[in-house]
Amino acid sequence: VLIRVPDVESAVAALAEPRTQAVAGATALLVDVHRAAPAPGATRALVDLTSVPELCVLDEAVPGEAPGVRFGAAVTLARAARRPGVVGAAAAGVATLAVRHQATIGGNACAAAWPADLVAALWCAGATVEVADPHGRRHLELGLAPLSLAPGEIVVALRVPDERGTHVAGGGVTPTRPALRVLTGLAAGRAVATAGAWRHPLPSTGAAVAAHAALHPAADEDEAAAPADGGTTRAASAAFVGAVLAAELGALGVPAPVAADLARRTALALEDV
Ligand SMILES: Cc1cc2nc3c(=O)[nH]c(=O)nc-3n(C[C@H](O)[C@H](O)[C@H](O)COP(=O)(O)OP(=O)(O)OC[C@H]3O[C@@H](n4cnc5c(N)ncnc54)[C@H](O)[C@@H]3O)c2cc1C
Repeated sequence: VLIRVPDVESAVAALAEPRTQAVAGATALLVDVHRAAPAPGATRALVDLTSVPELCVLDEAVPGEAPGVRFGAAVTLARAARRPGVVGAAAAGVATLAVRHQATIGGNACAAAWPADLVAALWCAGATVEVADPHGRRHLELGLAPLSLAPGEIVVALRVPDERGTHVAGGGVTPTRPALRVLTGLAAGRAVATAGAWRHPLPSTGAAVAAHAALHPAADEDEAAAPADGGTTRAASAAFVGAVLAAELGALGVPAPVAADLARRTALALEDV
């Protein structure tokens, strides 16, 4: 059953009923349902968040708030992709045009088993997230991991401040090291690290290698010249991509042990590809 609701409060009330789940563009949800045989007692009704007008609004300037952009959670990636800045660039890089016209920014942030490229971009842009539950609304800082909400909670909006002074500006990303390439590497690193859940890690792995080549073109030549057996070993290449990701994560303020762990897992996963 698909339940259409007029506002955020009705959506939250509908989701308080047992065996209900939120749906937006359904691009991740349909695949997730297809992968797992539905268990007895699984979802009975889907609450359609794209029917809520507030969730579909993309505001350039919110009265009374600092300069920035407020993306309603049901804004599609195709619309977000028309924005300048890192969030628009990351949205433009996700999947195909057809998927981007369905997939939403809130769904990307909540689909835990998927790459969630937007989460890295939103984090780098210093985004905050507005969440609604039966008790009201609250604002949270966004981390690097996909959002993990309690049952019945929904993302209402993602708010990106004026990009000056955010992690990107402070993290040393310069025009010669475009933010998107760094973000691609970050997202790829996470996707590869969670390859057990993400059934198709190859595109993201390609993004990691592309990010590596784009960020360190000189290093490619060194690598090509180095191996005596006439080719770059997978382990050397994987270790290098892992090191690139660790350096970029470090530059973006991720604690060194976390960056090192992600780099190690990324390198191991790449060796198997
Ligand atoms: C072919 C293909 C290629 C893809 N490639 C990429 C890629 O390169 N990079 C990438 O990052 N992603 C990729 N994805 C994933 C895609 O970006 C996500 O599927 C999409 O962004 C999810 O948004 P949606 O609106 O379709 O979410 P849905 O499928 O509707 O929902 C996904 C999950 O989020 C929950 N949810 C949705 N909206 C909210 C909300 N507002 N509040 C709380 N929970 C919510 C749902 O309950 C569900 O659990 C790809 C998907 C496909 C099918």
